[in-house]
Amino acid sequence: MRWEERQERVQEKIDEAIDHLAEEFSLNVNHYPVVIWVGRKDFKELKLPVDELANFEALKRNKVSATYPNGLILIANHSSDNIVEEATHFLHFSNSGIRNYETRGYDGVCLDILTEALGFFGSKVIDPSIKNNGKTNQENGIVKNYVYKRGYALGEIMFYSYIQGEICRRFVRDLFQNPLDRHGSAKRKLRQLESRFVH
Ligand SMILES: [Zn+2]
Repeated sequence: MRWEERQERVQEKIDEAIDHLAEEFSLNVNHYPVVIWVGRKDFKELKLPVDELANFEALKRNKVSATYPNGLILIANHSSDNIVEEATHFLHFSNSGIRNYETRGYDGVCLDILTEALGFFGSKVIDPSIKNNGKTNQENGIVKNYVYKRGYALGEIMFYSYIQGEICRRFVRDLFQNPLDRHGSAKRKLRQLESRFVH
């Protein structure tokens, strides 16, 4: 498939997934993301910000995808589970206003876990056949693998609670909208959700 065609399909699928979730949970869609299908393109061709070079190369090498809080989505793997997860992250970032995680130490790690939990939860709502593959790989490093493992486990249990009617749409909507911007707020929220759903 030509790059342009694939680019168009990926964009369409992401926008569809965003609309699906937004409707299910009455979330806002004020804008759609800028989606870039990476394919065989190199960094220069895509005219991305210079400080994205290292991220871009890792993403391309590992065939993964990423959503940035500024609304940019880079897709290096067009499988359905990748696409719907990034769409979910976009909707989460744009509704909550969540920004940088890096400066918050362990609270930032908890925020990352919550983000991946919602990412996997949203993916399952859009496509229940998606499996929890743990998404681990060596290049992620120990912390990121830990984040995926713990986040996906929580997201998966929350999904089954949702389809069994144990949690309502409003509960999920609040999670998508919570900015978790106070120091310690992500840690508390994660503890609260895990003690309800996991332990
Ligand atoms: Zn993710």
